[in-house]
Amino acid sequence: MRKKIVAGNWKMNKTYGEALLLGTEVADMVSREHHPELLTILAPAFPFLTAVSRATDGTDGISIAAQNCHHEISGAFTGEVSVPMIISCSAHYVIIGHSERRQYFNETDELLLAKLKTAIGHGLRPIFCIGETKAQRESGKHFETIQSQLEKTLFHFSAAQVAMTVIAYEPVWAIGTGLNATPEQVQEMHAFIRGLLLKKYGIAVAENVSILYGGSCNASNAATIFGCPDVDGGLIGGASLKTEDFAAIRKAMIAQLKTQSITQE
Ligand code: PEP
Repeated sequence: MRKKIVAGNWKMNKTYGEALLLGTEVADMVSREHHPELLTILAPAFPFLTAVSRATDGTDGISIAAQNCHHEISGAFTGEVSVPMIISCSAHYVIIGHSERRQYFNETDELLLAKLKTAIGHGLRPIFCIGETKAQRESGKHFETIQSQLEKTLFHFSAAQVAMTVIAYEPVWAIGTGLNATPEQVQEMHAFIRGLLLKKYGIAVAENVSILYGGSCNASNAATIFGCPDVDGGLIGGASLKTEDFAAIRKAMIAQLKTQSITQE
């Protein structure tokens, strides 16, 4: 069964002490409410990767992610952070292709492909974000946008390489806006993405790649979103910054896992 994941993208928030506190509180919460099939991922800002990693070390079911990486492994790129540096901070995941990076830092599909190559080549698992803008959805181009984003990037890799990635569907119009996609829109797009994986890589990959939803997911809507059959969890921005909110979202995923196991019995 594919992994269920609740990942917190802290973006450019929290100072050292605040990040350490949040990481410690989340680790306590995960050890109190552990579910063997749920992975919790925390993505603090670069300077705090090691501190948060140490604060959560030894807690089963937590991994650390970086929010970005450079596509070269070292060199004269002032201010940048490489994949080997991230790995040396005990992070196992990296967010690649977040719409804020695409939009504010002009990250193109070509650059994202290069970043994916470096991350995957070093065994750092990408949480690869894709999503359409409001204009693309309103003009009915959301499916072709998603397909094109995948074909230009992730679909350059082998089945084994794709199997180590997590996909996050994040409609740009839903990120940080309070406008989450409806469960119907979410399920329809997740099923479409899984269908593309099936066509390209076959059933084993399609059934094993976790596809997360991201975009104004919070304590009130998480249960409905996680109830969609092709949704394997969430990439959470704003609501991951407070332990109580993040805990409520994790609880919704655990409840969903419990319902699934009763249904399967
Ligand atoms: C995100 O940044 O990945 C995200 C989903 O943000 P928010 O939950 O705040 O919409």
